[in-house]
Amino acid sequence: MSKSLQAIRGMNDILPEQTPLWRYFEGTVARLLDNYGYKQIRMPIVEFTELFKRSIGEVTDIVEKEMYTFEDRNGDSLTLRPEGTAACVRAVLEHGITGGGQVQKLWYIGPMFRHERPQKGRYRQFHQIGLEVFNLDGPDIDAELIIMTWRLWGELGIRDAVKLELNSLGTSESRGRYREALVEYLSAHHDKLDEDSQRRLKTNPLRVLDTKNAETQAVLVDAPKMAEYLDEESRAHFEGLKSRLDAVGIPYVLNTKLVRGLDYYSKTVFEWVTDKLGAQGTVCAGGRYDGLVEQMGGKPTTGVGFAMGIERLVLMLETLEQIPEEISRQVDVYLCAFGEEAELAGLALAERVRDQLPNLRLQVNAGAGSFKSQFKKADKSGALYALILGDDEMAQQVVGFKPLRGQGEQQSIAWDALAAHLATCVVQG
Ligand code: ATP
Ligand code: MG
Repeated sequence: MSKSLQAIRGMNDILPEQTPLWRYFEGTVARLLDNYGYKQIRMPIVEFTELFKRSIGEVTDIVEKEMYTFEDRNGDSLTLRPEGTAACVRAVLEHGITGGGQVQKLWYIGPMFRHERPQKGRYRQFHQIGLEVFNLDGPDIDAELIIMTWRLWGELGIRDAVKLELNSLGTSESRGRYREALVEYLSAHHDKLDEDSQRRLKTNPLRVLDTKNAETQAVLVDAPKMAEYLDEESRAHFEGLKSRLDAVGIPYVLNTKLVRGLDYYSKTVFEWVTDKLGAQGTVCAGGRYDGLVEQMGGKPTTGVGFAMGIERLVLMLETLEQIPEEISRQVDVYLCAFGEEAELAGLALAERVRDQLPNLRLQVNAGAGSFKSQFKKADKSGALYALILGDDEMAQQVVGFKPLRGQGEQQSIAWDALAAHLATCVVQG
């Protein structure tokens, strides 16, 4: 195929054989979020470039080198959203729904775009489910976010394969004091730092903690620790979070190097990581951003949120073989009809059954065909039962009911009794 007719590198089609697992995952998360009282919000996938520069930070990897930015026909600079928080904050401010201290517990789902090097678990269009809470400033809500994800891992059967890493970046005052101490220490070891870290030391020194370079990591062993610079408020908040996680029995490890790639975090930051996906090990990440709304022009409004990467979590379900059997079956019953008269009767019968059993997944054969070919299609569809309408059945106003998986003889069921019979033998999703 010529190049222009291929998908863009790092942007994937999600094929019909994959969508059941995606829908299972998304449905599970959506139900959980409903149950905890979160409401969905939907934002555009394109925003003014300025929004991301202001919120994410000019010297972050995302803004410096990963954004899909273009000029539209009016000459405005627009960007495909690389993450959801900025747009969510923009939306709540624009509609005034966090004004006067109103609490908002919001979630969103959709594609995000970053020009990164595509590899397993890292794509240029990827999908997130994210969540943001406004105007709740205590550690109790930070804990709720983590407890909720812990429950999700349990429901998905992947809890044993993920680990929670926690850190506190403190208030902006304590972070400021820490930054000074860190810069002083790192400046004294300037020559041993890798090039990226030397640059970051000037622009965004906390990001040096995040380095993958072994020599720089060695320098960091004796660097000042954020934990020692937390002020009383940050310390109490962090203790409050930890005691709640302890109360619920959620294990965590403290990682003083966890700083996250976005500029806006304060106090709590966390990541759920796994060793099952190779290098792309973070499946869910987030934290508190108490200064962001004000920085974006709103009244002081606290915030906390996270985002999880759907591709990585779907990969986890596949890798750990945690795919519920029932999601791969998409047809319960397959109706085969032979001859024109049977086909018409079959259509009417199928509609009556659908009236009575709205959740039944009933597929009617299309494209006619011989007994053999229709039966083959019924079997291939994965259906549990085939319904058969031929000359004999038409004459007696019955339908042949044949189990396709496992034992059981074919029976004849009267048309009027069909829906009631199906209700007893098909568990409807
Ligand atoms: P990473 O360290 O893996 O680059 P990040 O810190 O840039 O992740 P966030 O911006 O916090 O990621 O996004 C939250 C989640 O979205 C990540 O934990 C990950 O699961 C997912 N994610 C981020 N970037 C990508 C990507 N390019 N492809 C697939 N998933 C991604
Ligand atoms: Mg990244």
